[in-house]
Amino acid sequence: MNLILLGPPGAGKGTQAQEIAKKRGLVQLSTGEMLRSAAKAGTKDGLEAEALMAKGELVPDDVVVKIISERIEQPDCAGGFILDGFPRTLMQAAALDRMLAEKGNKLDAVIELKADFNRLVERIVGRYACAKCGQGYHDRFKRPKVRGVCDVCGSTEFSRRSDDNAETVTTRMMAYYRDTSPLIGYYFCKQTLRSVDGMASIGEVATSIDNVIAGLSR
Ligand code: ADP
Ligand code: AMP
Repeated sequence: MNLILLGPPGAGKGTQAQEIAKKRGLVQLSTGEMLRSAAKAGTKDGLEAEALMAKGELVPDDVVVKIISERIEQPDCAGGFILDGFPRTLMQAAALDRMLAEKGNKLDAVIELKADFNRLVERIVGRYACAKCGQGYHDRFKRPKVRGVCDVCGSTEFSRRSDDNAETVTTRMMAYYRDTSPLIGYYFCKQTLRSVDGMASIGEVATSIDNVIAGLSR
């Protein structure tokens, strides 16, 4: 099964993708994570991306399409994947269609997490993750069961993204509404769009996504 989670920054794509991947044995493909790793590794693309990411702007389509097309070729993706943060432009969506068609593969659903813009800033500025395994948390909405200890790997080190600050949020939201939100119409017309309420609790959103997935096999 191949899925896209679509929604503005902070809508819950990464949180839900992490859970679905675990539960269903799918690979989570986050272009944001891939770009942050490339920046950390100091590759040419990574360094170019880093400056744009710090400003909250989108990285050029050709860079992201190259990264994702190489990753999708890896054998672990053959069993299915969840795209989280890709595609973000109509050009990226068209490139994805071509990539999948070349492999005789297809998308099963594009799940839109409908979000209330006014409540996303709080989600974004409170976000952090385990520095060792990447498990996502939130200061208010998703705390570790034992304070300061990762639920998944037991690490006591956590990190915050440098772009998760109030200054970049507006730019990131504008990028979403200008460049990414047209994808809602694109996938609606392809009859692959399913929408869920992304402002419900994490557990409720997960249940809504489960219901969408259950409906696909019917
Ligand atoms: P995205 O990947 O769409 O940018 P995340 O999944 O990283 O968003 O979620 C942003 C922050 O909000 C994280 O800290 C996460 O723990 C929290 N979060 C995600 N979903 C919900 C939800 N349904 N209710 C409250 N907080 C949430
Ligand atoms: P994310 O982790 O999805 O919040 O993405 C963090 C940042 O990475 C974004 O603000 C963009 O600068 C960049 N980025 C991630 N995915 C893409 C993409 N598909 N297209 C362009 N830029 C991206």
